[in-house]
Amino acid sequence: MNKFVPHTFAINSYQQVNFAITTKCPMRCEHCFEWDNLNLHETFTKDELKLIISKLQAKGLAHLSLSGGEPMVRFNEMLELIRDADRSTEFWVLTSGFNLDLSRAQKLKQAGATGVIVSLDDINAEKHNIFRGHNQAYQFAALAANATNQAGLLLAISVCVLRENANADFLTAHAEASTAMGADFIQWLEPKAEGNYRGKDVILTMEQISEMEKAFVSLNHDARYRHIAPILYHGYYQRRLGCLSAGKSSFYVDSRGMVHSCPFCHSADFQIMDWLNNADKKGKKISACPSY
Ligand code: SF4
Repeated sequence: MNKFVPHTFAINSYQQVNFAITTKCPMRCEHCFEWDNLNLHETFTKDELKLIISKLQAKGLAHLSLSGGEPMVRFNEMLELIRDADRSTEFWVLTSGFNLDLSRAQKLKQAGATGVIVSLDDINAEKHNIFRGHNQAYQFAALAANATNQAGLLLAISVCVLRENANADFLTAHAEASTAMGADFIQWLEPKAEGNYRGKDVILTMEQISEMEKAFVSLNHDARYRHIAPILYHGYYQRRLGCLSAGKSSFYVDSRGMVHSCPFCHSADFQIMDWLNNADKKGKKISACPSY
């Protein structure tokens, strides 16, 4: 519409950026896409993080997801980043739920955060803990979901759907449990052979994808599931429309400052500061999605 209707509003250059603000993480997740960087020395100081965020905002940014590592590890600095940023951008926190209690959730809300995305990869606590490599991971996720709700932040529950879980029974049970935890929406992700999964046989088969797509349509549209929170499943649309955003209206900055097309498809195109310190993006192109 911007092309056809003259207006004076500022146009966002980017709809969504995912920014890993720390390398540190107490989990050891099987699917971790930051595995190569995990628990190295921090790349950026708080002031450098602020500078990067302000430069991204100056380009026009609708939505910034703060991730890691585990962003809650840099909680006080993260609060300051959100509080001091321009309010033109929505700030979301992508977390395992680590140390996100009610007091911290309220501080996030007061600082100006919009919402929290909590990862919950299995509704069986023991299986989730094994997948996340931490014996309190489920407890952290459940407490974080509750605290996020009580603080008045939006809550999304995200799941990496493994081969053994790509079926209607698991997906329905997960959606019911996420809704009961107060999720405003649910996000389904497919495993990618990147990070700790690099070189491993984890990609879903076409049969498993077909099962997921049937469950996605049913859970989002059948009247009997009207009580369930809306489900967001990027793969469903990417297979039909192509990936319309990666490397164009969205990208990923890892905890070493490398820019990638998205968190799941690493391209390590260039250093964020090299780009932001230049007046334009000349000579620096973010890769497009390699899959769709
Ligand atoms: S996936 Fe996230 S929570 Fe899990 S080890 Fe990697 S950075 Fe930590």
